[in-house]
Amino acid sequence: MEQQDFDEWGFDTLAVRAGQVRTAEGEHSEAIFPTSSFRFDNAAQAAARFGGTEAGNIYSRFTNPTVRTFEQRLAALEGGERCVATSSGMAAILSTCMGLLKSGDHIVSSRAIFGSTVVLFDNFMGRFGVQTSYVPLTDLAAWEAAIRPTTRLLFVETPSNPLTEVADIRALADIAHRHGCLLAVDNCFCTPALQRPLKLGADIVIHSATKYIDGQGRCLGGAVVGSEELVGKEVFGFLRTAGPTMSPFNAWVFLKGLETLKLRMQAHSANALALAQWLEQQPQVARVYYPGLASHPQHELACRQQTGYGGIVAFEVRGGRDQAWAVIDATRMLSITANLGDAKSTITHPATTTHGRLSAQQKAEAGIGEGLLRISVGLEEVADMQVDLARGLALI
Ligand SMILES: *Cc1c(COP(=O)(O)O)cnc(C)c1O
Repeated sequence: MEQQDFDEWGFDTLAVRAGQVRTAEGEHSEAIFPTSSFRFDNAAQAAARFGGTEAGNIYSRFTNPTVRTFEQRLAALEGGERCVATSSGMAAILSTCMGLLKSGDHIVSSRAIFGSTVVLFDNFMGRFGVQTSYVPLTDLAAWEAAIRPTTRLLFVETPSNPLTEVADIRALADIAHRHGCLLAVDNCFCTPALQRPLKLGADIVIHSATKYIDGQGRCLGGAVVGSEELVGKEVFGFLRTAGPTMSPFNAWVFLKGLETLKLRMQAHSANALALAQWLEQQPQVARVYYPGLASHPQHELACRQQTGYGGIVAFEVRGGRDQAWAVIDATRMLSITANLGDAKSTITHPATTTHGRLSAQQKAEAGIGEGLLRISVGLEEVADMQVDLARGLALI
C-alpha cells in the first residue's frame, strides 16, 4: 500500500486524489471494501489493534478503508483535521450533539433550519435535557442575547432553506468564542466548493452528503468535520460505539461525487443565477430569493463569504397557493419532489410540504408564503427550465 502525501495540493487536486491508498492490485479508481470485519496476522496483532497500540482496521462500524478515504478527502477539502462519515445528514447532526453535549446544555440555533433538525433538537435532545432557542439568522444581536451560561453550541445553516438568507459565519464564530461556545455550520447548500466555514472560524462543519456531495440523488450519507479533539475524539467516540456509520458502497459513491463537486457547484450556480435573473423579469413573479442577485439583502456578504451562490432559488408568484400549484402542475420536465442537490432540477411548494407542519403564524414569521416556490436548479439547459416554468406562469 502507498499513502500519498497531499499536504501541498490545491483544492481541485485534493478533490480527485486526497485519501486514496492503493492496494497491491494497483487499481486506479478507489477500491470498495465491503467487509464487516478484518483479520489479524496473529493473536498478538489482534490484541494490539484492540488495545489501540497498533493502528489499523478492526471492524467496519468504525474502521473501513473506503469510508476512511472519503473522510480524508472531505476533511482536506474543508480544511479540517478530521472528518467522521455518518449514515445520513441527520446522523451527522445527532452524532455531533451526542458527542459534544450533555444534559443541562443549551443550543442557540438559527430558526430557518432543516425540518428534521428542529424535530431532533426539540423532541429528542429536549428529552435528554438539552434545550434549544431559535433566533433569526441575520440578527447578530439576537444570537448574542440568546446565549446563556449553559450554552455550549451555536448551530447555523447558511444559506437558509428556502429563502436563501445568508449568515455571517465569521461574526457568529466571534460571538460563540467570546462566550466559550462552539459554532457548528451545516454546509449542505454550499459544500466546500463554495464555502469553507472552518476557515471563517467555525469549529464544526456538518454535511448531508445525500445532496450535492452525491449530486445525483442516489445514496444517503453525512459527515462531521473539525478538529482532532472535537471530531476525532468526541464525535468519533459516539459514532464508533453507537454505529450510525456510512456504508463502504455509499462512501465510494460520495468519493466519486467529490471528484466533480466543484465543477458541478459552479454549473449549478451559473444555471441558478441565470434562472433567478429570468424569474425577476417575469410579471407574474413578485419576488425572487437568490444570494447572487443584487436585490438580495445579504448579497455583499455572500460575495465575501462564498465563491459561488449555489443552486437553490426561491420565488413568490402573485396570488397564493392556487397560482403556485398551477406553476408546479404545468411542469413537464422539472421533478416535483422536495429533494435537492441533484443533477435533475426539482420544484417544491414549501408551505404544503417541507414546511407544512408549521402553524400559520410560524409560516408567516419564517416568511413562507402560500405563493412561494423553491427550485433546486439542476444541470439541464436553463432555456428548457424557462419553457417549463413559463407554461404555468402564463396561466396566472
Ligand atoms: C437534507 C438535509 C439534512 C439531512 O440530511 P439527510 O441526509 O437527509 O439525513 C440536513 N441539513 C440540510 C440543510 C439538509 O438539506
